[in-house]
Amino acid sequence: MNKKRYAIIGGGINGLSVARQLLLDDPGVSVTVFEKEAAVAQHQSSHNSGVVHAGLYYEPGGLKARLCRRGVELVRNYCLENAIPFDECGKVVVALNQEELPRLDAIYKKSIANGVPGMRLVDAGELREIEPNCVGIRALHSPHTAIVSYGQIACRIAQDIEQRGGSIRLSAPVARLIELGSRIHVELDSGEVHSEHFDFAIACSGLQSDRLAVKSGDEATPKIVPFFGQYYVIDETFKSHVKGLIYPVPDPRFPFLGVHFTKRIDGQMTIGPNAFISLGRENYDGRRPNLRDVADFLTYPGFWKFASRNVATTMRELKTVLSESVFVREAARYVPTLADVAVTPSTRGIRAQAMQCDGSLVDDFVIRRQGNITHIRNAPSPGATSSMAIAEYIVREVLPKQ
Ligand SMILES: Cc1cc2nc3c(=O)[nH]c(=O)nc-3n(C[C@H](O)[C@H](O)[C@H](O)COP(=O)(O)OP(=O)(O)OC[C@H]3O[C@@H](n4cnc5c(N)ncnc54)[C@H](O)[C@@H]3O)c2cc1C
Repeated sequence: MNKKRYAIIGGGINGLSVARQLLLDDPGVSVTVFEKEAAVAQHQSSHNSGVVHAGLYYEPGGLKARLCRRGVELVRNYCLENAIPFDECGKVVVALNQEELPRLDAIYKKSIANGVPGMRLVDAGELREIEPNCVGIRALHSPHTAIVSYGQIACRIAQDIEQRGGSIRLSAPVARLIELGSRIHVELDSGEVHSEHFDFAIACSGLQSDRLAVKSGDEATPKIVPFFGQYYVIDETFKSHVKGLIYPVPDPRFPFLGVHFTKRIDGQMTIGPNAFISLGRENYDGRRPNLRDVADFLTYPGFWKFASRNVATTMRELKTVLSESVFVREAARYVPTLADVAVTPSTRGIRAQAMQCDGSLVDDFVIRRQGNITHIRNAPSPGATSSMAIAEYIVREVLPKQ
């Protein structure tokens, strides 16, 4: 029997995890990863908060809830097996006022429904024992939330793929996938059609996922609308003011978690990310707007519906974009001793957030197969935590059984 051939588009943590999973489940298959950059994991997978989310927030029964919980286990084991640092520093979600208490309670209930271990609601006194400089009237403590470097994990997975006989083609931007009968051809931006044809293709192209999907015959929506998140590194001498991760109670009208204190696996302490529309899907320094990307969201009716419904949140986020001190002050509501801390801007992350035509942001992961081509159309946070579980799901449940 001929061995099955798989093309994976995108060498971020999701594409690499799918390639590895295929080789783990059947060492006899042929796997080729196409990555447009000169190295793997140059986009979301190396520009994020580095948090291994325990699964607190997600709708019970949804893909996020299920794949995040399984993903934690797989990421933790992978780090242990490969001597990759994994720090279970824990996290608190902090309510500052009475108004936030029902929402905190709702997150607690979801975390229990999702089977997150060790979750506890704590009062102000107990919060101080966990985070001595943090103020709040009540908090949710997740002792097993952890931090890692997803960029490091992705690089290790890439080595794994090559050791298992898979190949990774770098600097290979894919223009489209062409399905002709039972064969899939991979056409590159250069016009070259890859010499080998494939039985299955799995597109995990993050910020470009909607474009590749449409060019390959999938539906036009949901569309990716890029939201950047700025981080600031706090002055070294103040970093001991925060022990682990301190998060606000998220605003239910917005899918992002709010500016938080994030301990990094390299020892730095950061504040961020905020969330604001990005003038480019890969415009990391904010100084080089991409006209095609901007025109893309400006001509999307969904974007205007979203914008008109979120004026207040947008204005709040805009203040943190325009002023470093507003950004720091926002975070210092949780740790007042850091109100005047010096900060240095660090690289932005840009979220590949899928948006529907009606302006709603797609909350759950969206993974769909049409014929023998599968597209990840939405994999925002906790997409890195869930990456190895997303891979299991695609390989064992989405691809047709052999
Ligand atoms: C600010 C921010 C904070 C986050 N924090 C967390 C967190 O703490 N924990 C967590 O679990 N998740 C977090 N996430 C989400 C997480 O980073 C993503 O879910 C995850 O990295 C998605 O991985 P991916 O492989 O799908 O996408 P990406 O990492 O973006 O990879 C996609 C790859 O596809 C390649 N590509 C695109 N188009 C083509 C093409 N046409 N041809 C060839 N290659 C192509 C790109 O170059 C890229 O390498 C965060 C994200 C952001 C932006």
